[in-house]
Amino acid sequence: MIGRTKRPIVIRNGRAIRNRRAESADIVVVNGVIEDILKPGEEGPEDAGVIDATDRLIIPGLINAHTHSHLAVAKGVSRSWTLELHLHNGPWTGGGQALEDRYLMAQASAAEMLLKGCTACYDLVLEMPAPTPEGLFATAAGYLDTGMRAVVAPMMADKTFWQAIPGLMEALPDHLRSTVEDIRLSGHDISLAACKTMLKEWPHDTDWALPALAPTIPHHCTDDFWTGCRDLAQSEGAGLHCHLAESKMQSIVGPMVYGGKSLTAHLDRLGVIGENFTGAHGIWLDDADLDILSRRGAAIAHNPSSNFRLGSGIARTPSIVNAGIAMGIGSDACSCSDHQNLFETMRLACYLSRTASFDPDDWFTPEQVLEMATEGGARALGLEGLTGRIEKGYAADLVLIDLTTSNFTPLNDPIYQLVFCEEGRSVDRVMVGGETVVLDGKLLTIDYGRLRARLNGRASELFAANEPKKKALAALEPFVKDFCVGLTTGRRMVA
Ligand SMILES: [Zn+2]
Repeated sequence: MIGRTKRPIVIRNGRAIRNRRAESADIVVVNGVIEDILKPGEEGPEDAGVIDATDRLIIPGLINAHTHSHLAVAKGVSRSWTLELHLHNGPWTGGGQALEDRYLMAQASAAEMLLKGCTACYDLVLEMPAPTPEGLFATAAGYLDTGMRAVVAPMMADKTFWQAIPGLMEALPDHLRSTVEDIRLSGHDISLAACKTMLKEWPHDTDWALPALAPTIPHHCTDDFWTGCRDLAQSEGAGLHCHLAESKMQSIVGPMVYGGKSLTAHLDRLGVIGENFTGAHGIWLDDADLDILSRRGAAIAHNPSSNFRLGSGIARTPSIVNAGIAMGIGSDACSCSDHQNLFETMRLACYLSRTASFDPDDWFTPEQVLEMATEGGARALGLEGLTGRIEKGYAADLVLIDLTTSNFTPLNDPIYQLVFCEEGRSVDRVMVGGETVVLDGKLLTIDYGRLRARLNGRASELFAANEPKKKALAALEPFVKDFCVGLTTGRRMVA
């Protein structure tokens, strides 16, 4: 069963986004599913409750195609860091967490997303030194208890960031190297065994929370790890998600470690890329890489706010779409975009596409970008046909936008104003599976004040405990920066 609400509901007097247009329609919801779409005022089921959507734009719930709940604690902590410095600082920004943090961080992520009109996400969650079934089940429970759908994937590697880049470890000063030499990850056999248990014993309703696998970055995982994930995903029908060519340095390291092949070509050689594969970022992909992703039916999760924040580069998003690759939009983690706001990322995705060409015919329109953040996201999560559209048979994952706010005054074009003006302030009601979880800008499922107090308290504890790690990593940071910037700009060559 997709929804939870049994009693039929009719949402009347609103304007619903369908086929890239805002049209007057009354929406019948039964058992959490869109049962019918009526002409305005047309008779609905006799016993139905009515939600009045006068002055409301009804959009499909936004879908966040790429996030990391374990970093919900890390808003505003990232400095002028590239992706590589972000990863270098990972042990203190997101490290030291306990099993009970999984539920808290998922609730914190879900709360922010729901309040900003997002009803489903793909969460790549980290546990050190290896994922645990309990941690992944608790993450999913955090989403479910807050009222949100989620695909939960353990983010994994069997090489640390410092081990994964040829020459980096050796370039660090002898007296400081032990800081990162002492950081160890479990072998892939331990991670794969945990994943197998997670997939076999998944306790949640898979219409609401699905498990998937996330070997984090191609060269941070050995080939044996990759093929193990490939086989497990195939046998259990699970999705695969990884960061793909996110930084220029990664695109340089790929051919260095894979005998001249790009990261994408290497994964394809391993048989990893298929319809269940979502590549996050995809900034440094060439035409041959796009051809592989297109032929295999893979999806891309585009994360413009994170890419700008980390200076990772400008994704060739019009080329990705023109290659026929499905694209969703993600916020990425709070440590690298600071928020979980799909309205902001939709706007940035629209702007960013305009840097790719002087011909406006190549630019994304707001209608296209909204479709990416809904249907495209559903495709990236493996939930196509279930959510992401206002159509009969789809889940009633709906967001009612108040058209009387200043963002929509005067009301000239609701979709353009949704993408170019809205920041989340006009979200009036959020329904997931027909159940109202946000009303008048407030969460109905959990006590947000209590959650805020717990998250503030836990953030203070974690960052105090991680202070020695932070100091030790700060001492190494200039050397890591010098090495990685040198490799990226061609100043440094590594044999
Ligand atoms: Zn990410």
